[in-house]
Amino acid sequence: MKFGIHLSIESKIEELPFLCKTYNIDCFQFFTKSPRKWSQKAIDDTIAINFKDNIKKKGITTKNLFIHCSYLINPANPTQQTFAELESEFQNAYKLGVHNLVLHPGACKDTDCLKKVSNTIKHVLRQYPKIKLLLENTTRIGRNLEELKIIKEEIGDRVYYCIDTCHLFATGYNLNVGVINDILDIENIKLWHLNDSKSPFGSNLDRHANIGKGLIGIENIKKFLQSKQLKNALFILETPGTNKTRSKEVELLRTYL
Ligand SMILES: [Zn+2]
Repeated sequence: MKFGIHLSIESKIEELPFLCKTYNIDCFQFFTKSPRKWSQKAIDDTIAINFKDNIKKKGITTKNLFIHCSYLINPANPTQQTFAELESEFQNAYKLGVHNLVLHPGACKDTDCLKKVSNTIKHVLRQYPKIKLLLENTTRIGRNLEELKIIKEEIGDRVYYCIDTCHLFATGYNLNVGVINDILDIENIKLWHLNDSKSPFGSNLDRHANIGKGLIGIENIKKFLQSKQLKNALFILETPGTNKTRSKEVELLRTYL
């Protein structure tokens, strides 16, 4: 079992690898640019080289690195802007040597909505053979976990899942590994976002809470973490606060194991 946090960029991207030791984390996730702005901002070559060097220096395996794509990308709405922004995420990941990209599948009202998502992803994946795409369950597409499964089956290899516990709870799923395994197969969940929820069960509102301070509650989180099937799982916290407060939450979680 590995724990990490979403690292807010408080210093430079190339210095993120040093923060693993600072915060005592095994893995981390970050944005390569503002997730709420259309920017298509490309990572500078020197930054990318330094980042990769520092990853090596610190002995971090690329399996433990995750980039979260911009929230604005809606793969179910395949406009030129969607493709440009998504391709820029892949390009940045490729340059930084990060092989895991987390993406929200978006939303649309059409009956062929899931098909649109798979076509968009297929188009971009084809150009970046090394990168794995991790579809996240959200309060939009993926609110029914079967939808993620349909998209994965449509695309095939190189698509996996990132399951967020706050989103699970908000969309009416208990933190029951057996149920989730039956739908998605735990082997395909390459990352868990471990967050408590400020919003009630089934409310369909995505509001993260600090571990044990939300409506999922510490007892349910403890029980969940003690599931046998999660022995090799990777958890990343995206809870409110700073890198430092999130790392304190990780410290606490380790004591439950
Ligand atoms: Zn997310």
